[in-house]
Amino acid sequence: MTKLERQKLVKKISTESSALKKLVAVMEKSADLIHPEGPGGRFSLRDMIKMKSADERQLRAARVRMNSLDRALNKIDDPEFGTCFICEQPVPLARLLVIPETTRCSKCEDK
Ligand SMILES: [Zn+2]
Repeated sequence: MTKLERQKLVKKISTESSALKKLVAVMEKSADLIHPEGPGGRFSLRDMIKMKSADERQLRAARVRMNSLDRALNKIDDPEFGTCFICEQPVPLARLLVIPETTRCSKCEDK
């Protein structure tokens, strides 16, 4: 990976990670708002349970993504970063931009 590619990737990961951090903070706040006596009081209990579990699923997914982005960001200066750990070929930048935390190229992923 070239220096420029690495910089591009760092920028992309940090942008996404900070956007996710904001999203998680908003979701955590709104999770507290869905409360029978709160502003969401017009919802039935069943609606609330449904909403809450959907929110929690989303929140969990966002947290998982955030952690893997942070991990990728921590590892980005490692010499082996961006190299497939199975075939040891460089992972294409286009793939890294979509899934920065990946440790496999698409060929090995499909296996
Ligand atoms: Zn591979």
